[in-house]
Amino acid sequence: MGERLLIDSHGRVLRDLRVSLTDRCNFRCLYCLPETEAARNFYRGHWAHMPNPAPIAQQWVPKSNILSFEEIERAVRIAVGSGIQKIRLTGGEPLLRKHAEELVARVSAIPGVTDLAMTTNGFLFPEKARALRQAGLHRVSFSLDSLDRGNFKKITGRDGLNEVLEGIRLAQEIGFHPVKVNAVIIRDINDGEIEALAGFARERQLSLRFIEFMPLDSARAWQKEMVVTGSEVLGRLQRRFELRPAGTETPSSTSKRWMFPDGQGEIGVISPVSEPFCGHCNRIRLTADGKIRTCLFSVTEHDLRSRLRGGGADEAIAGWLEEVVLQKEARHHIGEPDFVPPPRSMSCIGG
Ligand code: SAM
Ligand code: SF4
Repeated sequence: MGERLLIDSHGRVLRDLRVSLTDRCNFRCLYCLPETEAARNFYRGHWAHMPNPAPIAQQWVPKSNILSFEEIERAVRIAVGSGIQKIRLTGGEPLLRKHAEELVARVSAIPGVTDLAMTTNGFLFPEKARALRQAGLHRVSFSLDSLDRGNFKKITGRDGLNEVLEGIRLAQEIGFHPVKVNAVIIRDINDGEIEALAGFARERQLSLRFIEFMPLDSARAWQKEMVVTGSEVLGRLQRRFELRPAGTETPSSTSKRWMFPDGQGEIGVISPVSEPFCGHCNRIRLTADGKIRTCLFSVTEHDLRSRLRGGGADEAIAGWLEEVVLQKEARHHIGEPDFVPPPRSMSCIGG
């Protein structure tokens, strides 16, 4: 199996697998999984004149369909045997999965995993931080869209700013480096905090990524007018701070990076909507219920779970995976008349 590679029909070699541990979440972010009608309308109302597709009727995956740690470990081992090198654990909220550190230990022990990262909302991180580090997690990214307690609550549906800040502090204290922070900026909701978030990254020596809002929310309230583009974010930051380009990008990197002159902290701008990077995309995803997704915006999923549970040999599954990735989409079609949003929201896809 050592000679295998996952190459799609556009010549892209796939190296990065995102693994969702659960579709459940303890937060209810407006742009992902808004909880109440008020939350859905909170931003939908701004652009009420625009027609939207119907909201997704949220259906939680039955527990029996969620992959076990053994199954995830096997899937990762097969993928790594086919050239995958980077693994990111995500969700839903990955730390809602009991004993997530046990999975981290299993995955970090797989030869060929060169990078093992996690994306978390950070709320449960303080109680898990040391165990995750000891289990071999290399990197952690936190989601933090506001430094204002009231706005944080409005966006996430939870009064959890202090816990998340404590999680970030602790991650740095126990040696995760760099600690990344992701902020999704939505017009009229948190675009007033762009400079404050950047100032926070500088002060705390964090690597902050501004991410454009994508049409993956369960409310299907996304409108392009709500997207604060990466170039708008950058323009605002350049008016406030002196920023220098931070090194060369790897070809598959999604973010344009900038640093402050004193080298403290780093800013990145990820623009999947306004400047798609599909041509360099080297990712595939494994959902919590064992489906392979070849694009964030795929409308088709490929059933790995039944193969893992059906007694097939690793070699046969690796061959199947090679066929599946041939179907990786060339690019997304956001903003175009033929765009069809995926049937599941970001929390189910695994962001
Ligand atoms: N619960 C974890 C968290 O929030 O970090 C991990 C899963 S979450 C789906 C992964 C990332 O997706 C987060 O950084 C979140 O901000 C981002 N995200 C969710 N919905 C999004 C959307 N509609 N557009 C852009 N980014 C989104
Ligand atoms: Fe949960 Fe993350 Fe989605 Fe927020 S972005 S609702 S924390 S999965």
